[in-house]
Amino acid sequence: MLNVLKNRFEQGCKTSQYPKESVQLLPRYRGCPTIKTDATDDVVAACAAACPQEAINASAKTIDMGRCVFCGTCERISKGRFVTFTQDFAIAVAEKEHLQTQGQIPDLAAHARQHFKKLFGRSLQLRQVSAAGCNACEADLNVLATPFFDLARFGINFVASPRHADGIVVTGPISRNMKTALLQTYEATPQPRAVVAVGSCTITGGPFRGSPEVSEGLDSLLPVDLFIPGCPPHPMTNLHALLNFFK
Ligand code: SF4
Ligand code: SF4
Repeated sequence: MLNVLKNRFEQGCKTSQYPKESVQLLPRYRGCPTIKTDATDDVVAACAAACPQEAINASAKTIDMGRCVFCGTCERISKGRFVTFTQDFAIAVAEKEHLQTQGQIPDLAAHARQHFKKLFGRSLQLRQVSAAGCNACEADLNVLATPFFDLARFGINFVASPRHADGIVVTGPISRNMKTALLQTYEATPQPRAVVAVGSCTITGGPFRGSPEVSEGLDSLLPVDLFIPGCPPHPMTNLHALLNFFK
């Protein structure tokens, strides 16, 4: 017992002080993209042609973060003359059209549903539905329960039953086989219920977009309140989104 106490004392508190203190991610992390609007047409066209997700709109000079998998190809090809990725992890949005960006992401808290803040601001229970995800989105949600993030200190928990939940958090491209289970989980969640789409797959089909086996995006099946882009979204992106949208 003394050894346990000694160990605890030596280790100290491992929990992040976020959001009271900022968190600095590793330099290799790719967060919010920034577009240089004065990029030449040939550079923009080369990036658009190379993008595996068809996420670049060359005429509007925007990136669709709902499709983007943050592979960095456009940054590498343009050598930073068209796209650069910042370390800003605050990229979740409440309106899908806000995912089309040149780098300015609207303030999420300002677009949050006020009745959700009132109802769930102090206690939010969520049911996670993996609708054929590759497990990376799921793992980066799971990690929010670890001591560093300690999601429960904000009154947010993942629960085992949709009947105990205030909303659902969906990951994966929603395969044909998972569609019924997803819709039944949504129906089993008491109203008013929030719907959160996590990851490129759930928002647009991601790398599987266009396959007849997956959906075209969660918003084609259910009313989505919160879109969290990424492949997978960083745990800090998930945490920032949940805190700013519900708290
Ligand atoms: S980082 Fe996104 S926009 Fe750029 S090439 Fe990769 S998928 Fe396309
Ligand atoms: S968005 Fe990316 S990480 Fe998430 S389930 Fe799809 S392929 Fe996996």
